[in-house]
Amino acid sequence: MTLIAVSKTHDAEAIRPLIDAGQRVFGENRVQEAQGKWPALRAAHPDIELHLIGQLQSNKAEEAVALFDVIHSLDRPSLLTALAKAMDKAGKAVPCFVQVNIGDEPQKGGCPLADLPAFLDGVRASGIPLAGLMCIPPADTEAAPFFALLAKLASDHGLTGLSMGMSGDYETAVMLGATCVRVGTALFGHRG
Ligand SMILES: *Cc1c(COP(=O)(O)O)cnc(C)c1O
Repeated sequence: MTLIAVSKTHDAEAIRPLIDAGQRVFGENRVQEAQGKWPALRAAHPDIELHLIGQLQSNKAEEAVALFDVIHSLDRPSLLTALAKAMDKAGKAVPCFVQVNIGDEPQKGGCPLADLPAFLDGVRASGIPLAGLMCIPPADTEAAPFFALLAKLASDHGLTGLSMGMSGDYETAVMLGATCVRVGTALFGHRG
């Protein structure tokens, strides 16, 4: 089980104590913000692993591939094409989780449930390493059924990686099989 410390909005001063305590896996949700603070921190600690957990625009694919070790938000064919091209050009394979719109919410990112089988076929055909499935359950409702559904979908598709669980529900996510949890507030305090 991997704990991803979500450091979005927090500066290097806030991040350094976690590095000193031994934390090595961090998550950011914006390419530009991560570019600003991580190169210097990583120069001092080359064993740090950086995960992109937020939505990614296709025109940022090259920058994302250059900076991140894992991407959790692969959710549509246009982004798949852009990432495959960027990885090819960079000669770097970045494992990706496919983000699933687990609550089928209209405004939310993530691959629609109905499109998932075909999209996973497309990812496999692209050669991008498929790390597993990721979800953000609907807000203000019990997360457990959504985590259980994501675990079932992963198992149905022969995938073992499950990126699920945040500060409010990571214990539930772990009980339901999360292989990585993305925790921000519970580690850093509230975002200003
Ligand atoms: C911000 C964020 C988290 C962390 O949320 P907390 O509630 O602060 O733990 C996890 N996943 C994603 C995709 C996020 O954007």
